[in-house]
Amino acid sequence: MITIREISVKNLITKSKLPSVDFVINPYVGCPHKCIYCYAEFMKKFTNHKEKWGDFLDAKTRYEKIDIEKFKNHNIFLSSVTDAYNPFEKKYNITKQVLERFANSGANISILTKSNLVLRDIEIFKKIPNINVGFSINTTNDDIRKEIEPHASSIEKRIEALKILHGEGIDTWTFVSPIFPQITDFEKILELCKRFSNSFGFENLNLKNMCRERVLNYIQKRHKNLLPLYQEIYTCNDKSYWRKMSQEIHSYCQKNEIDYTIHFH
Ligand code: SF4
Repeated sequence: MITIREISVKNLITKSKLPSVDFVINPYVGCPHKCIYCYAEFMKKFTNHKEKWGDFLDAKTRYEKIDIEKFKNHNIFLSSVTDAYNPFEKKYNITKQVLERFANSGANISILTKSNLVLRDIEIFKKIPNINVGFSINTTNDDIRKEIEPHASSIEKRIEALKILHGEGIDTWTFVSPIFPQITDFEKILELCKRFSNSFGFENLNLKNMCRERVLNYIQKRHKNLLPLYQEIYTCNDKSYWRKMSQEIHSYCQKNEIDYTIHFH
């Protein structure tokens, strides 16, 4: 059961501290995709929501007029603490309406999602010259996806959407994130997505936040044999696993002439 509210905000587009991103658009507070590793749960501190993360959604239906000129030549990212294409976007169209404003605006828009609802807006994307659309994918096993990203689109649907966007001439990318040690098979993901992705990003699983207990409980319950490895990485802070993985990614991508960036923390 999810609690939905319609709220007013002053600015729908806010300044960002993310590297290479000037502004972010988060059309919602909260995210019904309910990924167990979600880093955005810290938002609850600012919004006083009592519900569990994933059980509430505030739709920013009212906001002050956007001066599009101000964003010319700036990098704008959707979204950093929600999924702009979560299922309620079908009803509220907040993402759609704001993107429509950016047609021929000169802004650089980057979208990252786990939802094939993004296909709805292909015609809008075609009117924004500097736009790229990416999908986060960290497993090819949809049973695992159901456990860790219960309400996001299936992996098959994400790859199909990637294929369609790519076929329509949209700049596409795949974000292999977050990489779960010994669960995420990055080579398998690349094999499935490389024909439809112009580039790839890689990010490791970070448990320095509120999701730590939830993820470690999941590993204990569903992948017990991996618990010692997770404890080494996340309790003893052993970085050797990530160093090795980073080398493997470099060597695989260079050998296969894949455009990639690694964002390991
Ligand atoms: S899609 Fe992103 S914002 Fe939404 S729950 Fe998953 S990780 Fe969090």
